[in-house]
Amino acid sequence: MDEDRSITEAASLINQAKCLVAFSGAGVSEESGIPTFRDPGGLWDRFDPYELGGGDIFSAMFRGSGIPRSAVDFVSEMVSVLERASPNPGHLALGELEGMGILRSVITQNIDNLHREAGNTLVIEVHGNLFRLACLVCGNKIYLGREELFSMGRKLVELMRESDLQGIIGLVSRCACGGVCRLDVVGFGEPVQDMPLAISEARGSDLFLILGTSGAVYPAAYLPEHAKKAGAKLIEINATGCYFPDIVDIGIIGKTGDVLPRVVDRVKELRR
Ligand SMILES: [Zn+2]
Repeated sequence: MDEDRSITEAASLINQAKCLVAFSGAGVSEESGIPTFRDPGGLWDRFDPYELGGGDIFSAMFRGSGIPRSAVDFVSEMVSVLERASPNPGHLALGELEGMGILRSVITQNIDNLHREAGNTLVIEVHGNLFRLACLVCGNKIYLGREELFSMGRKLVELMRESDLQGIIGLVSRCACGGVCRLDVVGFGEPVQDMPLAISEARGSDLFLILGTSGAVYPAAYLPEHAKKAGAKLIEINATGCYFPDIVDIGIIGKTGDVLPRVVDRVKELRR
């Protein structure tokens, strides 16, 4: 099918959908300049995740052997990457679809908060969110604003360079209970978050968008299967290929930031 026809058909399915749910992966963030973790040249290619506490950066600092140099570089790079990142046209198109009353929820493997910044309100972050802290004592979750996160990040890099562990503990003691907090992101070997809710959203959808995910990271990669088994139609958009060819109804190879705005424009035409 040629691309223009695929976009028209995708718009027609979206226009008719009663319950549209989107599922996004690293490809969507990459278009906002966020490096992927698992691809060649990605973060886990250049940094050893196990040296970094499997993703839980704070636990890596308190092992007694000092703060690894790579941890300082990693945090410093993440802070500057996130400071530069903003929602791309694909994120904004999803925000628009929610504003039009069409999109119900976004399930994402991304941890960069960009779907919320683009205006989506029901965002299920199965790998957590960098802009959220979790108290290690009482479990309370604390959302940070952009400036709050970045000033904390810059301060953290400074304290790490000075190996000031007391200062770091002070910096991350952010809960009202006085407890130390960690970043609320899912590290290696840790359970994913909100999976029952993600599965119920997938199973309750009648149209399921698969965006920029290669389906390599489980259990999130099962979500399209859940949607399919429950009777949903599936549309896949991915710049690097079609990874769910056996179950999708429409597959479009292209950047979500290029394709989604065109689809949304077409939906608007249908609704005029
Ligand atoms: Zn607490």
